[in-house]
Amino acid sequence: MKKILTAILTVTTCLFAAAQPNYFYPQAGKMNSAIPTPEQFLKYAIGSHHTRHDKLVEYFKELDKLSDRVTVQIVGETYEHRQQIAAIFTSATNHNKLEETRKAHLAGQLTGATANVPLVIQLGYNVHGNEPSSSEAALLTAYYLTASEDPETLKWLEEMVILMDPNINPDGRDRHSNWANMHKASPPVADPLDREHTEVWPGGRFNHYWFDMNRDWFLAVHQESKNRLQFFHHWRPYVQTDHHEMGSNSTFYFDPGKSSSNNPTVPDDLYNTIYPKFGLYFSQALNQIGSMYFTKEAFDKLYPGYGSSYINFYGGAGFLFEQASSRGHIQETSTIPLTFAFTIRNQFVSGLTTVRASLAEKAQLLKMRSAFYRSSAASAKASAVKAYIFGDANDETRTKAFVDLLLTHHIDVYDVENTVMYNGQRFEAAKTYVVPVDQPNYIMIRSVFEKGITYTDSLFYDASTWSLIHAYDLPYAELRTTVPRGKKISSVTQAASTVERSNYVYVFDLRDYNAHKAIYHLQSKGVIVQSAFRPFSTTIAGTAKTFGYGSIIISVQLQKISADSIFKVVSEAGKNSNIKIYSVGSGFNTSGIDLGSGYVRTLRMPEAMMLVGQGVAPTEAGEIWHLLDQRLGMPLTKMDITNFARADINRYNTIVMVSGSYTALDKTATDKLKLWLQNGGILITIKTAGEWAIKQGFTKEKLVVPDTTKSKTTLRFNYDDAVNIEGAKALGGSIFAVDLDTTHPIGFGTTNRKISIYKNGQTIFLPSANIYSTIAQYTNNPLIGGYLHASTLKKIKGNAAIVVGGEGNGKVIFFADNPNFRGTWYGTNKLFLNALFFGSHINVPVVAE
Ligand SMILES: [Zn+2]
Repeated sequence: MKKILTAILTVTTCLFAAAQPNYFYPQAGKMNSAIPTPEQFLKYAIGSHHTRHDKLVEYFKELDKLSDRVTVQIVGETYEHRQQIAAIFTSATNHNKLEETRKAHLAGQLTGATANVPLVIQLGYNVHGNEPSSSEAALLTAYYLTASEDPETLKWLEEMVILMDPNINPDGRDRHSNWANMHKASPPVADPLDREHTEVWPGGRFNHYWFDMNRDWFLAVHQESKNRLQFFHHWRPYVQTDHHEMGSNSTFYFDPGKSSSNNPTVPDDLYNTIYPKFGLYFSQALNQIGSMYFTKEAFDKLYPGYGSSYINFYGGAGFLFEQASSRGHIQETSTIPLTFAFTIRNQFVSGLTTVRASLAEKAQLLKMRSAFYRSSAASAKASAVKAYIFGDANDETRTKAFVDLLLTHHIDVYDVENTVMYNGQRFEAAKTYVVPVDQPNYIMIRSVFEKGITYTDSLFYDASTWSLIHAYDLPYAELRTTVPRGKKISSVTQAASTVERSNYVYVFDLRDYNAHKAIYHLQSKGVIVQSAFRPFSTTIAGTAKTFGYGSIIISVQLQKISADSIFKVVSEAGKNSNIKIYSVGSGFNTSGIDLGSGYVRTLRMPEAMMLVGQGVAPTEAGEIWHLLDQRLGMPLTKMDITNFARADINRYNTIVMVSGSYTALDKTATDKLKLWLQNGGILITIKTAGEWAIKQGFTKEKLVVPDTTKSKTTLRFNYDDAVNIEGAKALGGSIFAVDLDTTHPIGFGTTNRKISIYKNGQTIFLPSANIYSTIAQYTNNPLIGGYLHASTLKKIKGNAAIVVGGEGNGKVIFFADNPNFRGTWYGTNKLFLNALFFGSHINVPVVAE
């Protein structure tokens, strides 16, 4: 019986294997039979199963082993220890002089004098894990480039270096692949409501920490992105593809995109010449196989952090492909059922067409890049701003993170040898950096620093500004005259933190980004940590030193562990977090409170839980998980919302709720949360979770609600205008100024009252009825950068961005906006961390009538 079964299986596999080439590459010509097709290697037909990442890697390594046309490099590893690979396809001759080719290619970028150097392009697949057709297409493409003896393919390999990242998001892709495979039925079920097609929360789109990797090319928060960016800049290709999937009832999309959403800092030639030209190649290829498609009506190329746009900021052409998704092996649509194989074929064809078009349009691509650098040099020269100077002397961690990011994008950074003043701001020697604009990657510098780039469109697929200097909230100035640059730097090295042993007290300031990491380290090792709720000055080793609100005090005597153990743990905390911890010999301060003051509070260690699961925004939750995991080394319970009813929540002193519907919490669950709050719990809400808490009557704080008193409208518009008119009212993401109460525990460790926050939602609070409890208030002219509809401005200005509401002994800390946006908002991260570490110590002062 077993034997017969095997025989049948083999026959089926062979049938599939024979049918596959006809379906995917019917006009392929002669293929080298020594190279196994993906289906021969994997033992199933492409499109009949979702290929696991490890199998994909194995296949690429097999090609590398069998062929002198392929080299596979391991460029890194994901959080879940999956290998990130990059494959290089070129002729054997070119392989022998690969490094020489790379250098010649890079050397000719500015002049375009590389007509005789092989053209370097890159194909990138599957950035969103549950858009799986493209990695399967990568397997077919790799096979084709390795095995094809067709004269056209040989010419490609002779005249090009084709780089390939077959799977940009291995962790997310495997999450989805396993889901689709484990629910696959025989015969397959096309009903969209079958479990195969309805992945559970958070889905495979994201990486390990539930981040969207198709925003991270610019933000470079994750190791996968850092590895990929290093490889990108090592080669700096002329073309980069980015393959996606969209709704099952759609067709296929390729560039050109929406012309009104072109990035105004990128020369027009790309949009006006390259995209329309390549569009013709894509259309012809898809016409040939009968596939339907659309162009121009959607998808913007404004944001520099998409896989299809990042390269545009380096004079290359990024191409976006969007395929209707079968999300599973076959799914019903409004026409005929969509098969996985069909979706793979469109991706395969568009990838190969990119190779074909790139070589055919080589002269155009070379011209575009040299023109890009010429025009970028000219605008840098004409720029009124000659350089950007920045740095926070009180927060070397945050400053270093920003410099590291600039270096990742190959922006030249110089140190500053003398302390200087600009616009009333002091920039300290050795803790300040300068970025002159007269350098090749000027366009990227604009994206990082400029807040006021204006766009013609008012409909945004995503954010309308991304000025990173504001995300890091670093003191900076635009220099219009001579630049006091020192040495060009290749990295920021911080001096190792050494702590002197104290028999009395250890002290550190809260202004460094890593201060909370140090607090958690100390608390988790059993050290009693106190905080000064008022500033003080003291003398340390003969030098006067001022410590701001919230500074940390560790008394050697008021501890349950020995002075030796304290010294050991304090030294470790200093080393791990790279912050300066001081030894102090006297509690009698030169100004401000003394170290034993009544304003010194013993901090409670956060025992935190965050509700996750169906109905909760995965990226907001993931950002918090990533922050605590990667930057603090602090555990956080991620409790599935369905377990809330049966959980003993009294073991947590802090609960975090990010945006979500929370419909899974019924009245009993809500009452349970309310009781926990009344008994002293700290509830931190982000964005719409605050609206939920207010609707449940958790506090008396109020939301800004739309004005319903206006009389009925008599206006009338055309039906077709609704998309534009209503879409323009949305807040895709802009940067606003708030006035922060830096004397409030939520504002501790922040030097300036005016800080930048990122807002991409409509949650806004009225200032608290308690005059001490509006922690952050949007200023009257709050827009720093990005798009804003007039009606939204009216709602925002003067209202509250952060308020604290009391309920019994507990507090709700309401954040109208996401302080942890995409792991990049280092400035407002601190406010969230304060909520976590200081939430238990906030009073809502009683106001006398
Ligand atoms: Zn996508």
